[in-house]
Amino acid sequence: MGVIPHVIAGAEVTDDVRTGPVFNPATGERIAEVGFADEARVAEAVAAAKAALPGWRGTGLVKRADVFFRLRQLLLERSGELAAIVTREHGKVLADAAGEVSRGLENVEFAAGLVHLLKGEYAEQVSRGVDVHSVKQPVGVVACITPFNFPIMVPLWMTASAIACGNTVVLKPSEKDPSASLFLARLFAEAGLPDGVLNVVHGDKVAVDALLDHPDVKAVSFVGSTPIAKAIYTRASANGKRVQALGGAKNHMVVMPDADLDAAADAAVSASYGAAGERCMAISVLVCVGDATADALIGKITERIARLKIGDGTDPASEMGPLITAEHRAKVAGYVTGAAAEGAKVVVDGTSQAFDGDGFFIGVSLVDGVRPGMKVYDEEIFGPVLSVVRVASYDEAVALINANRFANGTAIFTRDGGTARAFEAEAEVGMVGVNVPIPVPVGAFSFGGWRDSLFGDSHIYGPESIHFYTRSKVVTSRWPDPSESQVNLGFPSNH
Ligand code: NAD
Repeated sequence: MGVIPHVIAGAEVTDDVRTGPVFNPATGERIAEVGFADEARVAEAVAAAKAALPGWRGTGLVKRADVFFRLRQLLLERSGELAAIVTREHGKVLADAAGEVSRGLENVEFAAGLVHLLKGEYAEQVSRGVDVHSVKQPVGVVACITPFNFPIMVPLWMTASAIACGNTVVLKPSEKDPSASLFLARLFAEAGLPDGVLNVVHGDKVAVDALLDHPDVKAVSFVGSTPIAKAIYTRASANGKRVQALGGAKNHMVVMPDADLDAAADAAVSASYGAAGERCMAISVLVCVGDATADALIGKITERIARLKIGDGTDPASEMGPLITAEHRAKVAGYVTGAAAEGAKVVVDGTSQAFDGDGFFIGVSLVDGVRPGMKVYDEEIFGPVLSVVRVASYDEAVALINANRFANGTAIFTRDGGTARAFEAEAEVGMVGVNVPIPVPVGAFSFGGWRDSLFGDSHIYGPESIHFYTRSKVVTSRWPDPSESQVNLGFPSNH
């Protein structure tokens, strides 16, 4: 069985003492091993990134941009191959994996505009003979730590902007589906990125802690679950690093009585069960305003569920693949059985659906009568489970959303522009959709939640990433007329 290597200074390394298994979730088969980096291996990767820094930050901006133009072309040419790698280790269906590649491509396209993005500001003659300009300089070595659910898109969210800004990177992808990051490092190299600018180390908490504690790592980008995001934020910021740590979610979709209920049912099914619910922007709570709305929607969603095709992601007929591991499947099933015990009504019970073979499949579930205080509502499930919460009014829907500890995404379905506009203003959530169930911003905007969905000040990719991955410096210059030079002990004043 092959061992998936680290990439350090352009070399692929596999001689680790510890390794972990990688599965194909559709078959349950153990398909590879991945090396787990120890502290020494992480130190090698950080040293490689540090050594590559002067050369990369000194590379002309147009030449840097060339790498991204070439990378874009390579990603387009090889997106099928990359999608197959994602499906094999993650389980999502091929069309969804290809969608992930194309969303990641937006970050490469954004990064290719780096000459424009890194422009500073200039003010002439702020005082007699004095000009001021600002520049954006790289922060240094950046650690990027990513989750299993988007094994190519999330690494691109981070690495594209970090590298465009002149930094060097150590990427620690999820140990559950590490091959996409290896493929990305190889493509970056083919696109002309010098060795050491992007290093990949695999592993678990040992590797992550080594990155968080290493004095030469200056910034940390993390995406994963809320408890780990919080711990990463606390530890890395205590070590003096700049940190952005994106966490979990519980995304509510509000359906008003005036909405197009067929469109809302299509959106709810797609957004809650797509990728088996393993998306941080998945809809997991359907907030129905009025019982008539709830009853009608539950009927329409149940009809659609009956037609869903669940199976191996490589089968073009499959619409939903398996969960990532057998343990995760047991955890997701526990929420559904627990919901019934807590007094909710399980309308569709996916846990009882049988599948051939040893894959980590589960059917989709729909649970009605869910309320705050029930585990199925309070916790992130990260599986194909949609909870219905019935409320009497728009105000009650907004209050519910704003009281939730997560605040990644939310959406409203309505035909009323005034209601939509009020929702946009009143929902205390980082990303809002109006008749759009998964409002992931395009690459020219930044992505991020509020409250327990993000620890730190900066959202990820887009304009905020340029701010996060650079330090600004302001230069005040005087080129006075030599004939006016004189000693003056007063405090410098511009008046
Ligand atoms: P996770 O938190 O288990 O793991 C994320 C990363 O942290 C992995 O690289 C993992 O190896 C590492 N890690 C795990 N445990 C650690 C520990 N104790 N100490 C240090 N590092 C540790 O998350 P996951 O299960 O891979 O991904 C799913 C989660 O990610 C969900 O909660 C989902 O909502 C979230 N997510 C959030 C966003 C977002 O943008 N907000 C995007 C994608 C996924």
